[in-house]
Amino acid sequence: MITRPLCSLIILSAILLSACKPADQSSSGPPVQQSAKPQVYVANYPLKYFAERLGADAVDVKFPAPADEDPAFWQPDDAAISAYQSADLILMNGATYSKWAEKVTLPESKLVDTSAGFKAQYIEIKADSTHSHGPGGEHSHSGTAFTTWLDLIQAAQQAETVSAALQELVSKEAAEQIKSRMAFLKSELESLNQRLLSCGSRLVNAPLVASHPVYHYWARRYGFNLQSLLWEPEVVPDDKAMEALKAILAKHPAKWMIWEGSPAPESVAKLEAIGVKSLVFDPCGNVPDQGDFMSVMKANIEGLEKAFNHP
Ligand SMILES: [Zn+2]
Repeated sequence: MITRPLCSLIILSAILLSACKPADQSSSGPPVQQSAKPQVYVANYPLKYFAERLGADAVDVKFPAPADEDPAFWQPDDAAISAYQSADLILMNGATYSKWAEKVTLPESKLVDTSAGFKAQYIEIKADSTHSHGPGGEHSHSGTAFTTWLDLIQAAQQAETVSAALQELVSKEAAEQIKSRMAFLKSELESLNQRLLSCGSRLVNAPLVASHPVYHYWARRYGFNLQSLLWEPEVVPDDKAMEALKAILAKHPAKWMIWEGSPAPESVAKLEAIGVKSLVFDPCGNVPDQGDFMSVMKANIEGLEKAFNHP
């Protein structure tokens, strides 16, 4: 889904482009440089979404991580690293998100940590065992929790930081447009935040389990009583994994498992058999197959509302 302001911009630029065509053809000079727009490199998809939606056609937003990797544990190659280094603006998630950035020098003057404003509220995760998902190799989630944007108030703060940084790069007129787009984005995030708060209060602290330790800020903001496993949506839990879950359920009798993506039908059946239903809340750290950040969050929330209204 394309947001309406963006959509009309696309239509407008299409009209302008087609209007320009005859002039281009008649001139024998070199084609006009496609873009002298500020180059904005981002660390994950939520920041890409915010930067594109806010900056619209005033900036070029680049997110070089491959679609099938977790951008948090992705290792950019030398070309991608130097692209980040030569950007006009580098939007980082902060909260130790981009593990690659710990070993690379990025130009301080171009770097914006979008979660620095709520640094004091970062959550520290106690040690968990290492595991792997995707081609990034083994990793651990212990240390600072980094899925900051699943607390939509924090997401709005990150978007505000993006908005302020983008305004520095563009004309006064474009900066005003960014400001008004930010007001609209903020109101959308706040209304989703309200719906999540209602879900949390409807559940009144009922225990939940999560397939992966990425929901800490979400659980804190919305009052979800959550314990995490280290499962993957595409991996069917074996007997050992099921025993580990049962051990948790003995003390934390959850009726729902929250998954990062659609679980395998066999996993759903195995959980159903022990009285646990499955529910997807996609963190949307990378570009979704369908829709955009907002439509994925809406679908996530609709799923929760449906489940928790009729327990
Ligand atoms: Zn993991």
